[in-house]
Amino acid sequence: MAAVVLNISNYAKCLCPVCPVETGSACIGAKQEKWVETRKAVGKVLERYHDHPEAYEMEMGALENSGIGRELGFQEPKSVDMKELFCSGTVGGSDCGDLNKKQICQCPTCAVWEAHGLDGTYYCLK
Ligand code: SF4
Ligand code: SF4
Repeated sequence: MAAVVLNISNYAKCLCPVCPVETGSACIGAKQEKWVETRKAVGKVLERYHDHPEAYEMEMGALENSGIGRELGFQEPKSVDMKELFCSGTVGGSDCGDLNKKQICQCPTCAVWEAHGLDGTYYCLK
């Protein structure tokens, strides 16, 4: 089992934003504005993939302080503003108390879960 790094590679693959455990949550919904900001910032970095492919795997804090990160004004998202990557130690669980535990966790179908040899589910609730 490998630690899940908060980077664009894992961020882009995470299925939490489409998971029914969180999609009906008003608390998660309130994070939408910041989430869209982060998605746009990630998109700007990906547009520069041809000349900065290393940014795809870089931990987001390091990316913020890198040359390309500073050029694009990239900012590492705060854990409290995120609705994904709960399996990473950086984010940990969700602070939202209205997640629907009766729905099925999507983690076992996620490419990050398989690539890192994870065996857990419902990381958002931990
Ligand atoms: S950790 Fe699992 S249950 Fe929680 S939002 Fe992500 S996919 Fe859904
Ligand atoms: S294993 Fe779960 S929490 Fe981790 S990236 Fe995949 S869907 Fe997100």
